Amino acid sequence: MFGKGLITGMRVTWKHFWGKKVTFCYPEEKLPMTERFRGGHLALNATKCIGCKLCSLNCPNRALELTVTVDENKKRHMQQYLHIMGRCLYCNLCVESCPTQALSWDKEYAISSWYKEDMVHDSMSDQTSAAVSEVKPHE
Ligand code: SF4
Ligand code: SF4
Repeated sequence: MFGKGLITGMRVTWKHFWGKKVTFCYPEEKLPMTERFRGGHLALNATKCIGCKLCSLNCPNRALELTVTVDENKKRHMQQYLHIMGRCLYCNLCVESCPTQALSWDKEYAISSWYKEDMVHDSMSDQTSAAVSEVKPHE
């Protein structure tokens, strides 16, 4: 029948026009990540961190650079926590090995960069890069 394909196409268009939208206006809108998504920046809850360094010891690719001080009462304090994303495998071993659940992923997925020097995140101040100019990403 002449025009049958056109009618079928219009029917599909009409159905989707009024149906639930499945697309997002990226980058104005961001797709919500799932609960178990591993990615983005490693977020540190400094109030929970006891400075034990188990996370960095368990990291297979030396992607964590930690600075810990010990006070006169032998209490350990985290001073700086750098996540070198260019080395990170996103294996989650650091998060799983933390005894106080101080680590999590912020699920921010738009973190690409032109420069590997920018792929370093200060997890304590939640800032990427500047602090890390001294860290050599290829070491
Ligand atoms: S996710 Fe894996 S590779 Fe990345 S910092 Fe944690 S332990 Fe290291
Ligand atoms: S394993 Fe957890 S508590 Fe220990 S230094 Fe790392 S983030 Fe802090």
